[in-house]
Amino acid sequence: MTSTAIRNNWTLEEIQAIYDQPLLDLVYQAATIHREYHSAREIQVCTLLSIKTGGCPEDCSYCGQAARYHTDIKVQALLPTETVIAHAQKAKDNGSTRFCMAAAWREVRDNRDFDRVIDMVKGVNELGMEVCCTLGMLTEEQAVRLQEAGLHAYNHNLDTSEQYYKEIISTRNFDNRINTINNVRKAGITVCSGGIIGLGETHRDRISMLLTLATMPKHPESVPINALARVKGTPLEDNPKVDAWDMVRMIATARIVMPASTVRLTAGRIEMTESEQAWCFMAGANSIFTGERQTLLVTPNPGVSEDMQMLQHLGLQPMPNKKEVTAC
Ligand code: SAM
Ligand code: SF4
Repeated sequence: MTSTAIRNNWTLEEIQAIYDQPLLDLVYQAATIHREYHSAREIQVCTLLSIKTGGCPEDCSYCGQAARYHTDIKVQALLPTETVIAHAQKAKDNGSTRFCMAAAWREVRDNRDFDRVIDMVKGVNELGMEVCCTLGMLTEEQAVRLQEAGLHAYNHNLDTSEQYYKEIISTRNFDNRINTINNVRKAGITVCSGGIIGLGETHRDRISMLLTLATMPKHPESVPINALARVKGTPLEDNPKVDAWDMVRMIATARIVMPASTVRLTAGRIEMTESEQAWCFMAGANSIFTGERQTLLVTPNPGVSEDMQMLQHLGLQPMPNKKEVTAC
């Protein structure tokens, strides 16, 4: 039974009032709403693979894959399709139900690399997993091609508020981001969009970013909340570590304003204790990224056996594969 209505007409002041509550009141409200819309015992386990790494022309100041920053990340051309499918199979065997493929591109170009990504989408879809891609900016026609290949979700994070965006990225603007999200929607692909905290933004910026997401005509089905992974060589390498309570506050607010969305505890888990992650789950996070490679794209991440142990300690279970359940 759901008694909390889905709303798309939030105001900044309303979200601010939710966000500013005493932490335990906020978590209690979020946990209550979480239980109306989701099974609080289940966490969706996902795997993210970088299919093309580094050498990106953009200047996102958090990102170690931007060509202009001198980081330790090795440039890697687009992986062969068979390699990607083998990674997806392994991820599935390890309990992942969603496989996300990321490319360090500014935008998708209509070339052979895109044809290869289309083949990867088809291949992962045939494994019976939710397939997600994050490839940069996308036209409506490109989104339709991905949808026809079986793409379930497209990730395109807002990253931060509209007001703070230009402080973080100068090579594209906030409207470019919204435009791609609209193209994804029009093609009938589900939207995965969230952001990063710890970029130097204010609390008001965090609330403003949530306002943009929560007032979209349809909420993103998936909302990743990242803590900045500080990469040596990027302009943000010396930013302070994100406080775990700030992650809890952000996740709880996202859960309350977008009750039906999957809220994903994404980058930054490596710096959180098991107890801190438990608070994030209590606040409404219901997905993690994990895998054997112990990386999230190009930054360190807990490994799958450690994560399975954590879920067991907390009495949580990996979410069953809904695609397979439906097929049965
Ligand atoms: N190039 C594409 C793009 O920017 O949309 C797709 C890949 S990009 C690496 C995907 C997302 O990862 C970014 O939008 C950002 O939210 C997140 N991300 C990248 N580097 C990060 C970092 N150091 N810390 C936290 N999140 C990060
Ligand atoms: Fe490129 Fe994406 Fe990294 Fe920005 S976040 S530099 S677009 S790979």
